[in-house]
Amino acid sequence: MNFTLQLLLWYGKNKRNLPWRLTKDPYRVWLSEIILQQTRIDQGTPYYEKFVAAYPTIEDLAAADEHDVLKLWQGLGYYSRARNLHATAQTVSRDYGGNFPGGYDDIRKLKGIGDYTAAAIASICFDLPHAVMDGNVLRFLSRMFGILDSIDLPATKKKIQAIATENMDHLNPGDYNQAVMEFGATVCTPANPGCNSCVFNKSCFAFSNNSVGKIPKRSPRATIRNRFIHYLVLTVTHKGTDFIYLNKREGSDIWKNLYDFPSIEAVPGKKEHLLPAADFSELMQSSMPEFLEVSGQYVHLLTHQKLHARFYHFHSDKMVELPYILVLLKEIHKYPVPRLIDRYLVKMQHV
Ligand code: SF4
Repeated sequence: MNFTLQLLLWYGKNKRNLPWRLTKDPYRVWLSEIILQQTRIDQGTPYYEKFVAAYPTIEDLAAADEHDVLKLWQGLGYYSRARNLHATAQTVSRDYGGNFPGGYDDIRKLKGIGDYTAAAIASICFDLPHAVMDGNVLRFLSRMFGILDSIDLPATKKKIQAIATENMDHLNPGDYNQAVMEFGATVCTPANPGCNSCVFNKSCFAFSNNSVGKIPKRSPRATIRNRFIHYLVLTVTHKGTDFIYLNKREGSDIWKNLYDFPSIEAVPGKKEHLLPAADFSELMQSSMPEFLEVSGQYVHLLTHQKLHARFYHFHSDKMVELPYILVLLKEIHKYPVPRLIDRYLVKMQHV
């Protein structure tokens, strides 16, 4: 039996029952693909369900406020995905009358949609023969067909893409793509793949050559940068009501349009550990409210960075005018914040 048929038979029997597999609606397929980038299925599924419930159609998502979209996304990380999701919904609504474009090139042009997502939507929703490439596909096919070059190199990806395309079932490209991804995700896993019961173990290059642990090869990883951030958490009680200062992130970084606190970032090698309370006087423009406590260190991992954060809580019984955003403490849950800030707020029972 050839590779493609064997793979499709395996998929028919073993595919997981996932909500976005019940539809070919490009809006839902696109939503699931964006949510599942850099996110595990068990973590992403509740977000998919929340988005479909809040925005049943692409027009609903297009009409939403970006603030609400970011809030619903909170906890998933990589917030540019949510901003792009919203922007693309608006493009599809404005330029395509609310109907997702049906050609690969038009899909690929939409914001936040790369080669992988365009191929997934084109094949699953429009039966177009574009092979998907993600980490699961690269690992499975490089083991199966004995690709020994580093899979980080564009030339290697191209080679594997050609193998995927050559083996594609052109009558059923959507199922073929999903089958390759599913096999990589559930059988040909990075650690402890299920080789002994694998349907390909007689034809698999890596298994036959006792080199499953050596394929795929990777180039050495970029080094992780450590950053040390000291956050100022200033609460104010005014006329019996509690407020807290937030900082809206306007720059073009990954947390754009989210809220955090005013902060001091340590210069490498200096001020990486605890700061004296007086160091915050400049952020508070020399008003010196009462210093209450400093948190333990919170560590937060990003793709190439490791953030080490502490939160310094100050409190004032009178209004302090600062160039940040003063919000009602009881309404802080309405503001989209990065996961790092959310972890602190939950622990301090501010939300
Ligand atoms: S035999 Fe092992 S390495 Fe080869 S395809 Fe199957 S699970 Fe992957």
